[in-house]
Amino acid sequence: MTPILGFLTPLIIYAVITALHYFLPGRWITGYVAHSETGELLRYRLNGRLVLIVSIVLWFALGYLEWVPYDWLYTVRWYSLAGAFTIGLVFSLWIVLPHPSTGKPFLADFFLGRLENPQLQGGRIDAKMWLYLIGAVMLELNVLAFSGHHHMTHGDAASPGIFLSAALLTYFVFDYLSFERVHLYTYDIFAERVGFKLGWGCLTFYPYFYAVALWSTVDLPDPNIPAWGYAGAAILFLAGWIFARGANMQKFFFKIQPERPFLGIRPESISDGKRSLLVNGFWGLSRHVNYLGEILMACGIALSTGYPGIIWPWLYPLYYVALLFPRQFDDDKRCAAKYGALWGEYKKRVKYKIIPFLY
Ligand code: NDP
Repeated sequence: MTPILGFLTPLIIYAVITALHYFLPGRWITGYVAHSETGELLRYRLNGRLVLIVSIVLWFALGYLEWVPYDWLYTVRWYSLAGAFTIGLVFSLWIVLPHPSTGKPFLADFFLGRLENPQLQGGRIDAKMWLYLIGAVMLELNVLAFSGHHHMTHGDAASPGIFLSAALLTYFVFDYLSFERVHLYTYDIFAERVGFKLGWGCLTFYPYFYAVALWSTVDLPDPNIPAWGYAGAAILFLAGWIFARGANMQKFFFKIQPERPFLGIRPESISDGKRSLLVNGFWGLSRHVNYLGEILMACGIALSTGYPGIIWPWLYPLYYVALLFPRQFDDDKRCAAKYGALWGEYKKRVKYKIIPFLY
């Protein structure tokens, strides 16, 4: 019975998250991406943080009432992963197959998708924002269950690193869902289609793989790391967050109110008369200092488990390197095409791609 229930668990959770997203109050927001046919900016109804909070309360309530053990998602993790894998695959087939080809080979279409920005009811549910919401909330539930498992099995001998790592991941999820509006201005939303990469990526990969640091260490004993080791991991995470959140916010404000200072930094930009690019603050350090921030945050999460000698927690920051370094190349090509000579000027002004003074 447990394998079947475990397999069905993500299906039930995804259905509950979808219902919460649909029925809980939300803010209507005009986004950055224009409809490919009408040219009008797309509208979105966003309520990610509220859905997250209600989901966590439900998780606590079910545990408290002893209807579902706090560590259920840990106990059934492999079955649950198999269920999520199946949902991700079925969703990807469903969102790609019935729609006209983009002219690329079938496998490219399947992987990258055919539809640009599918929405239901004029944006009440936007496929991309829904996918990110499901991934983020399910990740958080896995994090709670995995650290809950550690507490239940180790009691007083539990490792503070597990709770620190869980707290940092929780912060990461809250941060993402608190700034959903800012993420409407990011690459996935304006440059990608919905296929296996985004569909399977958010329904399967994101909620399970992002928990790999905890998955691989919650059964281990307390490594007895000195407090400064944990403090160092937390500081690394915080430094990364400042780069990632700071750069994203500075660009967001620049796009909506080009004159508005951010953290006291007055925006400096270069322009060709039609378009402009920021050249100071975070965007003067490197052309993608936010990617560096994301990688540092992931290192902080891996290190905070207290097991720097085990490979598994490091898979998380390594994945970011594999994702974001090629993405920087793609974005560079896209921006060179969009901004023309201005992009060349920007590259002369801001020399480093990701890591200031190094790369
Ligand atoms: P960016 O936020 O760096 O956005 C790149 C775009 O910003 C460009 O295409 C261009 O778009 C615009 N831009 C570039 N340079 C400038 C400039 N100097 N001035 C003004 N606009 C500029 O990258 P992403 O969208 O890839 O990433 C967004 C965030 O999401 C990052 O923090 C990233 O690390 C994070 N991320 C997180 C992931 C996760 O799993 N946690 C996965 C992937 C990304 P335009 O045409 O609009 O000008």
